[in-house]
Amino acid sequence: MSLPSSVDVAIIGAGAAGLGAARALEHSGLSVLVLEARDRIGGRGHTIMAATDVVFDVGCGWLHSADKNSFVKIAERLEFEVDRTLPPWRERAFGKAFPQQERDDFIRSLEAFYDRAEQAAQSGRDSAADLQLEPGNRWNPMIDAISTYVNGCELDQVSILDMDAYEDTGINWRVRRGYGALMAAYGALCPVALNTQVTRIDHSGKLLRIETSQGTLSAGKAIVTVPTNLIANEALRFVPALPAKVAAARGLPLGLADKVMLALEQPDALPKDGNLRGATMRTAMGTFHLRPFGQACIEGFFGGRFAQALEDAGEGALAAQAIDEVVALLGSDFRRQLKPLAASRWAHDPFAQGSYSHALPGHAGARAVLAAPIDGRLFFAGEATSPNFFSTAHGARDSGERAAAEVVGNRE
Ligand SMILES: Cc1cc2nc3c(=O)[nH]c(=O)nc-3n(C[C@H](O)[C@H](O)[C@H](O)COP(=O)(O)OP(=O)(O)OC[C@H]3O[C@@H](n4cnc5c(N)ncnc54)[C@H](O)[C@@H]3O)c2cc1C
Repeated sequence: MSLPSSVDVAIIGAGAAGLGAARALEHSGLSVLVLEARDRIGGRGHTIMAATDVVFDVGCGWLHSADKNSFVKIAERLEFEVDRTLPPWRERAFGKAFPQQERDDFIRSLEAFYDRAEQAAQSGRDSAADLQLEPGNRWNPMIDAISTYVNGCELDQVSILDMDAYEDTGINWRVRRGYGALMAAYGALCPVALNTQVTRIDHSGKLLRIETSQGTLSAGKAIVTVPTNLIANEALRFVPALPAKVAAARGLPLGLADKVMLALEQPDALPKDGNLRGATMRTAMGTFHLRPFGQACIEGFFGGRFAQALEDAGEGALAAQAIDEVVALLGSDFRRQLKPLAASRWAHDPFAQGSYSHALPGHAGARAVLAAPIDGRLFFAGEATSPNFFSTAHGARDSGERAAAEVVGNRE
Protein backbone atom coordinates (compact mmCIF):
# COMPACT_ATOMS: atom_id res chain seq x y z
CA MET A 1 0.00 0.00 0.00
CA SER A 2 1.51 3.37 -0.96
CA LEU A 3 0.98 6.12 1.57
CA PRO A 4 -1.48 8.94 0.89
CA SER A 5 0.02 12.43 1.17
CA SER A 6 -2.36 13.34 3.97
CA VAL A 7 -5.05 11.96 6.28
CA ASP A 8 -7.26 13.40 8.97
CA VAL A 9 -6.08 10.94 11.60
CA ALA A 10 -2.92 8.82 11.63
CA ILE A 11 -2.83 6.01 14.17
CA ILE A 12 0.66 4.80 15.03
CA GLY A 13 0.64 1.07 15.74
CA ALA A 14 -1.84 -1.69 14.84
CA GLY A 15 -1.95 -3.50 18.17
CA ALA A 16 -5.11 -3.76 20.26
CA ALA A 17 -5.05 -0.01 21.02
CA GLY A 18 -4.52 1.12 17.44
CA LEU A 19 -7.17 -1.27 16.13
CA GLY A 20 -9.57 -0.19 18.88
CA ALA A 21 -9.07 3.44 17.83
CA ALA A 22 -9.47 2.65 14.12
CA ARG A 23 -12.66 0.68 14.70
CA ALA A 24 -14.09 3.48 16.84
CA LEU A 25 -13.40 6.03 14.06
CA GLU A 26 -14.93 3.84 11.34
CA HIS A 27 -18.08 5.92 10.93
CA SER A 28 -16.65 9.26 12.00
CA GLY A 29 -16.38 10.65 8.48
CA LEU A 30 -12.66 11.25 9.07
CA SER A 31 -10.00 9.71 6.84
CA VAL A 32 -7.97 7.34 9.00
CA LEU A 33 -4.80 5.35 8.39
CA VAL A 34 -3.01 3.02 10.81
CA LEU A 35 0.77 3.01 10.35
CA GLU A 36 2.29 -0.29 11.47
CA ALA A 37 5.99 -1.17 11.52
CA ARG A 38 5.48 -4.94 11.37
CA ASP A 39 4.22 -7.01 8.45
CA ARG A 40 1.14 -7.99 10.45
CA ILE A 41 -1.46 -6.46 12.75
CA GLY A 42 -2.01 -7.38 16.41
CA GLY A 43 1.28 -6.25 17.97
CA ARG A 44 1.73 -8.08 21.25
CA GLY A 45 -1.34 -10.17 20.38
CA HIS A 46 -0.06 -12.87 18.02
CA THR A 47 -1.31 -16.42 17.50
CA ILE A 48 0.67 -19.00 15.57
CA MET A 49 0.15 -22.67 14.82
CA ALA A 50 3.20 -24.06 16.64
CA ALA A 51 2.35 -27.45 15.09
CA THR A 52 -0.58 -28.60 12.96
CA ASP A 53 -2.75 -29.12 16.04
CA VAL A 54 -1.14 -26.71 18.54
CA VAL A 55 -2.48 -23.16 18.77
CA PHE A 56 0.09 -20.93 20.48
CA ASP A 57 -0.54 -17.39 21.67
CA VAL A 58 2.99 -16.02 21.62
CA GLY A 59 1.75 -12.85 23.33
CA CYS A 60 -1.53 -12.36 25.22
CA GLY A 61 -3.53 -15.50 25.87
CA TRP A 62 -5.96 -14.81 28.70
CA LEU A 63 -9.09 -12.68 28.65
CA HIS A 64 -8.24 -11.16 32.03
CA SER A 65 -11.11 -9.77 34.15
CA ALA A 66 -13.27 -11.55 31.60
CA ASP A 67 -16.55 -10.30 33.07
CA LYS A 68 -15.39 -6.74 32.26
CA ASN A 69 -13.34 -7.50 29.18
CA SER A 70 -14.55 -5.83 25.98
CA PHE A 71 -12.94 -8.55 23.84
CA VAL A 72 -15.43 -11.13 25.19
CA LYS A 73 -18.36 -9.52 23.36
CA ILE A 74 -16.19 -9.04 20.28
CA ALA A 75 -15.32 -12.76 20.37
CA GLU A 76 -19.00 -13.64 20.56
CA ARG A 77 -19.82 -11.31 17.67
CA LEU A 78 -17.04 -12.76 15.52
CA GLU A 79 -17.95 -16.31 16.53
CA PHE A 80 -14.69 -17.09 18.29
CA GLU A 81 -15.36 -19.72 20.93
CA VAL A 82 -14.55 -18.48 24.45
CA ASP A 83 -13.30 -21.21 26.79
CA ARG A 84 -14.53 -20.46 30.30
CA THR A 85 -12.34 -23.05 32.05
CA LEU A 86 -10.75 -21.12 34.89
CA PRO A 87 -6.96 -21.10 35.00
CA PRO A 88 -5.10 -23.70 37.04
CA TRP A 89 -2.60 -21.19 38.47
CA ARG A 90 -3.63 -21.35 42.09
CA GLU A 91 -5.59 -24.23 43.46
CA ARG A 92 -4.83 -27.05 41.07
CA ALA A 93 -1.33 -28.40 40.82
CA PHE A 94 -0.05 -31.54 39.26
CA GLY A 95 2.65 -33.82 40.58
CA LYS A 96 4.44 -34.33 43.83
CA ALA A 97 6.75 -31.35 43.50
CA PHE A 98 4.28 -28.99 45.12
CA PRO A 99 2.09 -30.97 47.57
CA GLN A 100 -1.33 -29.46 48.30
CA GLN A 101 -0.49 -28.62 51.92
CA GLU A 102 2.58 -26.67 50.82
CA ARG A 103 0.61 -24.99 48.10
CA ASP A 104 -2.10 -23.93 50.56
CA ASP A 105 0.58 -22.49 52.82
CA PHE A 106 2.10 -20.63 49.87
CA ILE A 107 -1.29 -19.21 48.79
CA ARG A 108 -1.89 -17.99 52.37
CA SER A 109 1.44 -16.14 52.35
CA LEU A 110 0.73 -14.73 48.91
CA GLU A 111 -2.71 -13.47 49.97
CA ALA A 112 -1.28 -11.95 53.14
CA PHE A 113 1.33 -10.14 51.03
CA TYR A 114 -1.37 -8.73 48.73
CA ASP A 115 -3.42 -7.63 51.79
CA ARG A 116 -0.42 -5.81 53.26
CA ALA A 117 0.31 -4.12 49.93
CA GLU A 118 -3.33 -3.01 49.63
CA GLN A 119 -3.24 -1.64 53.17
CA ALA A 120 0.00 0.22 52.50
CA ALA A 121 -1.50 1.71 49.31
CA GLN A 122 -4.34 3.23 51.36
CA SER A 123 -1.83 5.73 52.77
CA GLY A 124 -1.53 7.23 49.26
CA ARG A 125 2.28 7.15 49.59
CA ASP A 126 4.07 5.15 46.95
CA SER A 127 6.85 2.66 47.60
CA ALA A 128 8.34 -0.52 46.19
CA ALA A 129 6.16 -3.60 46.61
CA ASP A 130 8.99 -5.77 47.95
CA LEU A 131 8.85 -3.73 51.19
CA GLN A 132 5.57 -5.53 51.90
CA LEU A 133 7.18 -8.98 51.97
CA GLU A 134 7.22 -10.45 55.45
CA PRO A 135 10.89 -10.59 56.53
CA GLY A 136 12.08 -14.18 56.66
CA ASN A 137 8.97 -15.74 55.09
CA ARG A 138 10.16 -18.85 53.28
CA TRP A 139 7.81 -18.20 50.35
CA ASN A 140 9.23 -14.74 49.51
CA PRO A 141 11.24 -15.91 46.47
CA MET A 142 8.16 -17.58 45.03
CA ILE A 143 5.96 -14.54 45.71
CA ASP A 144 8.57 -12.60 43.76
CA ALA A 145 8.38 -15.21 40.98
CA ILE A 146 4.63 -14.60 40.72
CA SER A 147 5.40 -10.91 40.28
CA THR A 148 7.69 -11.74 37.37
CA TYR A 149 4.72 -13.43 35.65
CA VAL A 150 2.12 -10.80 36.58
CA ASN A 151 4.23 -7.63 36.26
CA GLY A 152 7.09 -8.90 34.12
CA CYS A 153 9.51 -7.84 36.85
CA GLU A 154 10.50 -8.43 40.46
CA LEU A 155 8.68 -6.64 43.27
CA ASP A 156 11.50 -4.17 43.93
CA GLN A 157 10.54 -2.47 40.65
CA VAL A 158 6.78 -2.36 41.24
CA SER A 159 4.84 0.62 42.61
CA ILE A 160 2.30 -0.39 45.27
CA LEU A 161 -0.07 2.39 44.16
CA ASP A 162 -0.01 1.10 40.59
CA MET A 163 -0.45 -2.48 41.76
CA ASP A 164 -3.45 -1.35 43.80
CA ALA A 165 -5.01 0.49 40.84
CA TYR A 166 -5.19 -2.68 38.72
CA GLU A 167 -8.69 -4.11 38.53
CA ASP A 168 -8.54 -7.90 38.74
CA THR A 169 -11.97 -9.49 38.93
CA GLY A 170 -10.35 -12.92 39.23
CA ILE A 171 -12.14 -14.26 36.15
CA ASN A 172 -9.85 -15.33 33.34
CA TRP A 173 -11.04 -17.03 30.15
CA ARG A 174 -9.40 -17.95 26.85
CA VAL A 175 -10.12 -17.85 23.15
CA ARG A 176 -9.94 -21.34 21.69
CA ARG A 177 -8.54 -20.19 18.33
CA GLY A 178 -6.18 -17.73 20.01
CA TYR A 179 -6.38 -14.20 21.40
CA GLY A 180 -4.05 -12.97 18.65
CA ALA A 181 -6.27 -14.56 16.01
CA LEU A 182 -9.27 -12.79 17.52
CA MET A 183 -7.41 -9.47 17.40
CA ALA A 184 -6.46 -10.07 13.77
CA ALA A 185 -10.10 -10.76 12.88
CA TYR A 186 -11.22 -7.67 14.82
CA GLY A 187 -8.81 -5.48 12.84
CA ALA A 188 -9.10 -7.25 9.49
CA LEU A 189 -11.01 -4.44 7.79
CA CYS A 190 -9.07 -1.54 9.31
CA PRO A 191 -7.07 0.65 6.91
CA VAL A 192 -3.49 -0.30 7.78
CA ALA A 193 -0.18 0.46 6.06
CA LEU A 194 2.07 -2.45 7.06
CA ASN A 195 5.89 -2.36 7.09
CA THR A 196 5.62 1.34 7.85
CA GLN A 197 7.76 2.36 10.79
CA VAL A 198 7.15 5.88 12.09
CA THR A 199 10.42 7.50 13.10
CA ARG A 200 9.43 11.15 13.74
CA ILE A 201 6.34 13.21 14.37
CA ASP A 202 6.88 16.90 13.71
CA HIS A 203 4.12 18.87 15.40
CA SER A 204 5.63 22.35 14.92
CA GLY A 205 3.44 23.32 11.94
CA LYS A 206 -0.28 23.58 11.29
CA LEU A 207 -0.41 19.97 10.13
CA LEU A 208 1.51 17.11 11.72
CA ARG A 209 4.38 15.80 9.56
CA ILE A 210 4.81 12.10 10.08
CA GLU A 211 8.05 10.57 8.83
CA THR A 212 8.00 6.86 8.14
CA SER A 213 10.16 4.18 6.54
CA GLN A 214 7.82 4.46 3.51
CA GLY A 215 7.90 8.25 3.15
CA THR A 216 6.30 11.26 4.82
CA LEU A 217 2.64 12.10 5.19
CA SER A 218 0.74 14.87 6.90
CA ALA A 219 -2.11 14.44 9.32
CA GLY A 220 -4.51 16.66 11.20
CA LYS A 221 -4.23 14.51 14.30
CA ALA A 222 -2.36 11.43 15.45
CA ILE A 223 -3.00 8.71 18.00
CA VAL A 224 0.27 7.23 19.26
CA THR A 225 -0.01 3.67 20.60
CA VAL A 226 3.57 2.36 20.49
CA PRO A 227 4.91 0.53 23.58
CA THR A 228 6.39 2.78 26.29
CA ASN A 229 9.97 1.60 25.79
CA LEU A 230 9.97 3.03 22.25
CA ILE A 231 8.86 6.44 23.54
CA ALA A 232 11.30 6.23 26.46
CA ASN A 233 14.32 5.56 24.26
CA GLU A 234 13.05 7.87 21.51
CA ALA A 235 12.92 5.20 18.80
CA LEU A 236 9.91 7.36 17.88
CA ARG A 237 10.83 11.06 18.20
CA PHE A 238 8.67 14.11 18.59
CA VAL A 239 9.72 17.50 17.23
CA PRO A 240 9.55 19.70 19.26
CA ALA A 241 10.53 17.18 21.93
CA LEU A 242 7.97 16.09 24.52
CA PRO A 243 10.08 15.58 27.66
CA ALA A 244 7.06 14.99 29.92
CA LYS A 245 5.92 12.11 27.71
CA VAL A 246 9.41 10.61 27.60
CA ALA A 247 9.69 10.89 31.40
CA ALA A 248 6.25 9.29 31.87
CA ALA A 249 7.19 6.44 29.53
CA ARG A 250 10.45 5.92 31.45
CA GLY A 251 8.42 5.53 34.64
CA LEU A 252 6.34 2.83 32.93
CA PRO A 253 8.88 0.43 31.45
CA LEU A 254 7.86 -2.85 29.88
CA GLY A 255 8.64 -5.83 32.06
CA LEU A 256 9.46 -9.13 30.44
CA ALA A 257 7.42 -12.31 30.17
CA ASP A 258 8.29 -15.01 27.66
CA LYS A 259 6.51 -18.16 26.64
CA VAL A 260 7.71 -21.45 25.22
CA MET A 261 5.68 -24.23 23.64
CA LEU A 262 6.85 -27.84 23.94
CA ALA A 263 5.33 -30.75 22.03
CA LEU A 264 4.39 -33.65 24.30
CA GLU A 265 4.60 -37.11 22.77
CA GLN A 266 2.30 -39.03 25.12
CA PRO A 267 -0.21 -36.49 26.36
CA ASP A 268 -2.51 -38.92 28.14
CA ALA A 269 -0.10 -39.23 31.06
CA LEU A 270 -0.81 -35.61 32.05
CA PRO A 271 -4.06 -33.82 32.92
CA LYS A 272 -5.75 -31.42 30.53
CA ASP A 273 -5.28 -27.79 31.64
CA GLY A 274 -3.13 -28.71 34.63
CA ASN A 275 -0.56 -26.54 36.32
CA LEU A 276 2.97 -27.61 37.07
CA ARG A 277 5.31 -25.76 39.34
CA GLY A 278 7.77 -26.83 41.96
CA ALA A 279 8.07 -25.51 45.49
CA THR A 280 11.57 -24.55 44.48
CA MET A 281 11.95 -21.49 46.73
CA ARG A 282 13.57 -19.65 43.83
CA THR A 283 12.48 -16.60 41.91
CA ALA A 284 14.27 -17.78 38.78
CA MET A 285 11.90 -20.50 37.65
CA GLY A 286 9.18 -21.20 35.15
CA THR A 287 5.54 -22.10 35.55
CA PHE A 288 3.92 -24.60 33.21
CA HIS A 289 0.47 -25.07 31.74
CA LEU A 290 -0.04 -28.74 30.96
CA ARG A 291 -2.01 -29.56 27.82
CA PRO A 292 -3.79 -26.23 27.28
CA PHE A 293 -7.23 -26.98 25.73
CA GLY A 294 -6.22 -30.65 25.92
CA GLN A 295 -3.60 -30.16 23.20
CA ALA A 296 -0.53 -32.41 23.10
CA CYS A 297 1.85 -29.82 24.49
CA ILE A 298 3.14 -27.98 27.56
CA GLU A 299 3.32 -24.18 27.64
CA GLY A 300 6.05 -22.65 29.79
CA PHE A 301 6.09 -19.11 31.14
CA PHE A 302 9.15 -17.23 32.40
CA GLY A 303 9.36 -13.65 33.65
CA GLY A 304 11.56 -10.85 34.93
CA ARG A 305 15.36 -10.95 35.14
CA PHE A 306 15.39 -14.70 34.58
CA ALA A 307 13.50 -14.37 31.28
CA GLN A 308 15.93 -11.62 30.26
CA ALA A 309 18.91 -13.84 31.05
CA LEU A 310 17.39 -16.71 29.05
CA GLU A 311 16.70 -14.44 26.06
CA ASP A 312 20.24 -13.07 26.26
CA ALA A 313 21.61 -16.63 26.33
CA GLY A 314 20.35 -16.99 22.77
CA GLU A 315 17.82 -18.91 20.68
CA GLY A 316 16.89 -22.22 22.28
CA ALA A 317 17.87 -21.33 25.87
CA LEU A 318 14.27 -20.82 27.01
CA ALA A 319 13.17 -24.19 25.65
CA ALA A 320 16.20 -25.97 27.12
CA GLN A 321 15.48 -24.46 30.55
CA ALA A 322 11.80 -25.39 30.29
CA ILE A 323 12.62 -29.00 29.43
CA ASP A 324 15.13 -29.24 32.31
CA GLU A 325 12.55 -27.90 34.77
CA VAL A 326 9.74 -30.19 33.58
CA VAL A 327 12.06 -33.19 33.73
CA ALA A 328 13.17 -32.22 37.25
CA LEU A 329 9.51 -32.09 38.32
CA LEU A 330 8.10 -35.10 36.47
CA GLY A 331 11.02 -37.45 36.00
CA SER A 332 13.68 -38.21 33.40
CA ASP A 333 11.31 -40.26 31.21
CA PHE A 334 9.85 -36.99 30.07
CA ARG A 335 13.04 -35.76 28.39
CA ARG A 336 12.43 -38.01 25.35
CA GLN A 337 8.83 -36.91 25.16
CA LEU A 338 9.37 -33.17 24.89
CA LYS A 339 10.32 -31.25 21.77
CA PRO A 340 10.61 -27.46 21.47
CA LEU A 341 8.07 -26.02 19.01
CA ALA A 342 8.30 -22.24 19.42
CA ALA A 343 9.32 -19.55 21.92
CA SER A 344 8.94 -15.81 22.26
CA ARG A 345 11.76 -13.28 22.66
CA TRP A 346 9.81 -10.12 23.43
CA ALA A 347 12.76 -8.13 24.79
CA HIS A 348 14.61 -8.66 21.51
CA ASP A 349 11.56 -7.69 19.46
CA PRO A 350 12.42 -4.20 18.13
CA PHE A 351 8.78 -3.06 18.01
CA ALA A 352 7.87 -4.20 21.53
CA GLN A 353 11.16 -4.26 23.50
CA GLY A 354 9.40 -6.05 26.33
CA SER A 355 6.06 -7.57 27.29
CA TYR A 356 3.84 -5.27 29.38
CA SER A 357 4.19 -2.11 31.42
CA HIS A 358 4.50 -1.67 35.17
CA ALA A 359 4.96 1.57 37.07
CA LEU A 360 8.26 1.97 38.89
CA PRO A 361 7.90 2.94 42.57
CA GLY A 362 6.98 6.63 42.67
CA HIS A 363 5.61 6.65 39.12
CA ALA A 364 2.00 5.46 39.47
CA GLY A 365 0.83 8.88 38.24
CA ALA A 366 2.71 8.44 34.96
CA ARG A 367 -0.16 6.56 33.29
CA ALA A 368 -2.37 9.67 33.36
CA VAL A 369 0.52 11.87 32.14
CA LEU A 370 1.19 9.52 29.23
CA ALA A 371 -2.52 9.37 28.32
CA ALA A 372 -3.06 13.16 28.23
CA PRO A 373 -3.56 14.74 24.77
CA ILE A 374 -1.32 17.55 23.53
CA ASP A 375 -2.71 20.64 21.77
CA GLY A 376 -5.85 18.80 20.71
CA ARG A 377 -3.76 17.09 18.00
CA LEU A 378 -1.59 14.43 19.56
CA PHE A 379 -3.39 11.67 21.42
CA PHE A 380 -1.97 8.71 23.30
CA ALA A 381 -3.30 5.18 23.79
CA GLY A 382 -1.85 1.73 24.46
CA GLU A 383 -2.00 -0.59 27.45
CA ALA A 384 0.27 1.62 29.53
CA THR A 385 -2.26 4.47 29.39
CA SER A 386 -5.11 2.40 30.84
CA PRO A 387 -5.93 3.52 34.40
CA ASN A 388 -7.11 0.12 35.69
CA PHE A 389 -6.53 -2.48 32.99
CA PHE A 390 -2.94 -1.59 32.09
CA SER A 391 -0.73 -4.43 30.88
CA THR A 392 -3.69 -6.15 29.21
CA ALA A 393 -5.04 -6.47 25.68
CA HIS A 394 -8.54 -5.28 26.55
CA GLY A 395 -7.10 -2.33 28.50
CA ALA A 396 -5.16 -1.44 25.35
CA ARG A 397 -8.22 -1.75 23.12
CA ASP A 398 -10.38 0.34 25.45
CA SER A 399 -7.67 3.02 25.57
CA GLY A 400 -7.78 3.21 21.76
CA GLU A 401 -11.50 3.77 21.92
CA ARG A 402 -10.96 6.49 24.54
CA ALA A 403 -8.38 8.25 22.34
CA ALA A 404 -10.74 8.03 19.34
CA ALA A 405 -13.45 9.76 21.39
CA GLU A 406 -10.94 12.49 22.29
CA VAL A 407 -10.13 12.96 18.59
CA VAL A 408 -13.81 13.32 17.72
CA GLY A 409 -14.34 15.64 20.70
CA ASN A 410 -11.53 17.88 19.44
CA ARG A 411 -12.93 18.14 15.92
CA GLU A 412 -12.87 21.63 14.45
C1 LIG B 1 4.14 -12.97 26.65
C2 LIG B 1 2.97 -12.06 26.86
C3 LIG B 1 1.86 -12.52 27.50
C4 LIG B 1 0.76 -11.69 27.68
N1 LIG B 1 -0.36 -12.20 28.27
C5 LIG B 1 -1.48 -11.44 28.31
C6 LIG B 1 -2.70 -12.01 28.68
O1 LIG B 1 -2.78 -13.21 28.95
N2 LIG B 1 -3.81 -11.22 28.71
C7 LIG B 1 -3.76 -9.90 28.35
O2 LIG B 1 -4.79 -9.23 28.38
N3 LIG B 1 -2.59 -9.33 27.99
C8 LIG B 1 -1.46 -10.07 27.94
N4 LIG B 1 -0.31 -9.53 27.47
C9 LIG B 1 -0.25 -8.09 27.21
C10 LIG B 1 -0.95 -7.66 25.92
O3 LIG B 1 -0.51 -8.47 24.86
C11 LIG B 1 -0.61 -6.20 25.65
O4 LIG B 1 -0.89 -5.41 26.78
C12 LIG B 1 -1.42 -5.62 24.49
O5 LIG B 1 -1.47 -6.50 23.41
C13 LIG B 1 -0.77 -4.29 24.09
O6 LIG B 1 -1.49 -3.68 23.05
P1 LIG B 1 -1.03 -2.24 22.56
O7 LIG B 1 -1.86 -1.90 21.39
O8 LIG B 1 -0.96 -1.31 23.71
O9 LIG B 1 0.50 -2.43 22.12
P2 LIG B 1 1.12 -3.36 20.96
O10 LIG B 1 0.33 -4.60 20.82
O11 LIG B 1 2.56 -3.47 21.24
O12 LIG B 1 0.86 -2.50 19.67
C14 LIG B 1 1.71 -1.44 19.30
C15 LIG B 1 1.99 -1.58 17.82
O13 LIG B 1 2.87 -0.52 17.42
C16 LIG B 1 3.77 -1.02 16.48
N5 LIG B 1 4.92 -0.13 16.46
C17 LIG B 1 5.93 -0.02 17.34
N6 LIG B 1 6.76 0.95 16.98
C18 LIG B 1 6.27 1.48 15.85
C19 LIG B 1 6.68 2.54 15.00
N7 LIG B 1 7.77 3.27 15.25
N8 LIG B 1 5.95 2.81 13.89
C20 LIG B 1 4.83 2.09 13.59
N9 LIG B 1 4.39 1.07 14.37
C21 LIG B 1 5.11 0.79 15.49
C22 LIG B 1 4.09 -2.41 16.99
O14 LIG B 1 4.62 -3.23 15.97
C23 LIG B 1 2.71 -2.88 17.46
O15 LIG B 1 2.02 -3.56 16.45
C24 LIG B 1 0.79 -10.35 27.23
C25 LIG B 1 1.92 -9.88 26.55
C26 LIG B 1 3.00 -10.73 26.35
C27 LIG B 1 4.18 -10.20 25.59
